[in-house]
Formats: sequence, structure tokens, C-alpha cells
Amino acid sequence: MPEGDTVYRLARRLDAALAGSTLTSTRFRVPQLATTDLSGYRVEEVASRGKHLLIHLSINESRLPSRLCLRSHLMMEGRWDLYQPGERWKRPAHLARLVLETQDVSAVAFEVQQLKLVPAEEENELVGHLGPDLLGTDWDADRAARNLLNEPHRPIGTALLDQRLLAGIGNIYRCEILFLTRLHPLTPCGQVPDMDAVVAMSYRLLQANKDRARRVTTGTARTRDPFWVYGRTAKPCLRCATPVKLMALSDEFGAHERDCYYCPACQKLEE
Ligand SMILES: [Zn+2]
Repeated sequence: MPEGDTVYRLARRLDAALAGSTLTSTRFRVPQLATTDLSGYRVEEVASRGKHLLIHLSINESRLPSRLCLRSHLMMEGRWDLYQPGERWKRPAHLARLVLETQDVSAVAFEVQQLKLVPAEEENELVGHLGPDLLGTDWDADRAARNLLNEPHRPIGTALLDQRLLAGIGNIYRCEILFLTRLHPLTPCGQVPDMDAVVAMSYRLLQANKDRARRVTTGTARTRDPFWVYGRTAKPCLRCATPVKLMALSDEFGAHERDCYYCPACQKLEE
């Protein structure tokens, strides 16, 4: 599962390559859009919204929907490559789901999911369910904190991954935010002493990393250990030397059964 900052950087890269250009050919390799042809549309902007990638398109022809929004999601395996015209792809062609070509570049989406094309005015149906976007221009810390507190019995370790509450956190940041705020992953949201601090830490980590090629939560000096706990099972906690533990976390909301790394000494569960 990508983190929000991955999708943010991807949107910037695609925007630099495509925005302002007219599509010369498009190929959709998903059944529901197999016959769609967007050639002639101009790419207005490529943006991220949480972990969703949105490509905004427009055309000056009255017979067509003049403004469209194309949504995709990387999920676990998805990625986009940019190629020069005629350049050989680095990945097998059968994994491609979408090819967008301009005069100068081919953007190829491999194994992306949730491809959907809607009139621009229906964009909200695609991403309206998302909570405040940690990397969005309309970030709202108070609303994010309220959303988390509205689920008082839910473990903070699963709530942070729920994109409806706040958008952009994947497993790496989830683990690191909990460590840095000294919260055991099973702490119910209603018992988190300072939810504003959790939200502020989330914002700080994603903002600090959004333009970095290499993700780091421990500070730029610690290049050997970019993370406090993530991926460090049985290694000594960087703060207290207690071996880092791993737990599978899931709750009745489902779909969040993911490995959560934590330090049992720094992150105690309050009785
Ligand atoms: Zn520790």
C-alpha cells in the first residue's frame, strides 16, 4: 500500500510531463473502459487526493463532455512509467491498464486499480468519501482530529489507516506516528490523551517527506536508520533498546489487517 506522499510525488511527475499537452492516443485495457478514446482531450492537471490520482481533462467540442476526471489508484502493485515515443517498456505489456500518449511522451499505468472516468462535476463521487488530505491544499487538522475521536472504541492503530477519517497515511507512517506519539497500536481513539498531537505529527511527517526521494522519519542525520520501528522486528528500539515487536492488527471495520511494528516499552497500553 503506497503512502500519500508517493502518490503526491507521482502526481507532480505526471503533471510536469502531461499538463498542457493534448492526448494523441489513449488505450484503456480494462473491460469497462475498453472502447473509450480520449484523443483530442487536453491534460489540464494531474493531482493527488489522498492516495487517489486524478487526471483532469478538457476539450473544446460541444458534442462531448467538455471536462472529465480520470481516477486511478495504485493499491499494492500499481505504478506509472513515462517513456519517450517508441521507447521499450520496462514492464510486461499485459500488466498495462492504461496508456496515455502525447506528441512527446507515453504515460503507462501498470496494474493500477479503480480506473474510473467521470464528468468533472461528478469528481466528488470518486473522492468525496475521503477525510481531510494531509497533503491537500484544503487540509483541516481540526476535522481530522474530530473524525478520529468520533470512533472512540476503535484502536488508533487501525483508525489512522482509514482514509475516510484522514487521507494519506499508509503502514509506514502509521507505525512511525504511533511510536513518535508513544501510543500502543491498540489504544482506543477515545483514550488517546492528545489527538491533536497525533494529527499534528501525521501532518509533520508527510509534509517533511513529500518532496524527498527517500522517506525518513528519524531526522536527516540518521540515514542508516530511516525509521524508528517500521521493518525493525526484534531489532533494538532506537530510543530504549527494547526489541521492536510486530503485531497483526485488524478490527471489525475489516481490511486493515496489516503488520504493525511498535516498541513494547516506549508504547505501553494504558490499563
Ligand atoms: Zn523503545
